[in-house]
Amino acid sequence: MNLVLFGPPGCGKGTQAKNLVAKRGWVQLSTGDMLRAAIAAGSDLGQRVKAIMDSGALVSDEIVIELIAERLPEAEAAGGAIFDGFPRTVAQAEALDRLLEGRKTQVDKVVRLVVDNEELVRRMAKRAAEEGRADDTVEAFKVRLEAYETQTAPLIPYYTDQGKVVEVDGMGSIEAVSAAIATALDG
Ligand code: AMP
Repeated sequence: MNLVLFGPPGCGKGTQAKNLVAKRGWVQLSTGDMLRAAIAAGSDLGQRVKAIMDSGALVSDEIVIELIAERLPEAEAAGGAIFDGFPRTVAQAEALDRLLEGRKTQVDKVVRLVVDNEELVRRMAKRAAEEGRADDTVEAFKVRLEAYETQTAPLIPYYTDQGKVVEVDGMGSIEAVSAAIATALDG
């Protein structure tokens, strides 16, 4: 299973991806987590992306495509990839299609978590207090929402045209959203 968990920042992708890892043994491929790990490790890549990430803007397509390509074999071996925060641009989605095609597979489903903007801002503020992420400030979050609307939302028609999108109400409790995702996956 190649599942794209899709939605704006703060919609619950990371939480739900971790839940799917625990329940189904699939692999979470979060480009945001990979980039934060690079920053924490002080690697060249980390130093290159830190300022961009802190501002809330997207890093280059090439960087995240390479990070994802490196991890595909591991996810394949586990029987499932959960793409979390990737793809975020049409160019990334096209690259993912090509990468998967080269491995004789494809994106199977896109679960779109729908959460309104007021709730996104509320969750960001809560996470800022809990985790202290550099891009969970009011200014950076505004940039992230704008990046989502201009660069990432065009993926909705991209995947809808392929008949892959299932919408899930992301406004409920973590458990309610997990249950709705399970229904979306299992029918
Ligand atoms: P996330 O944890 O998914 O919200 O990602 C945090 C930040 O990492 C984003 O605001 C971007 O700066 C960067 N990032 C993560 N994934 C991507 C991606 N697929 N394309 C470009 N930038 C990304």
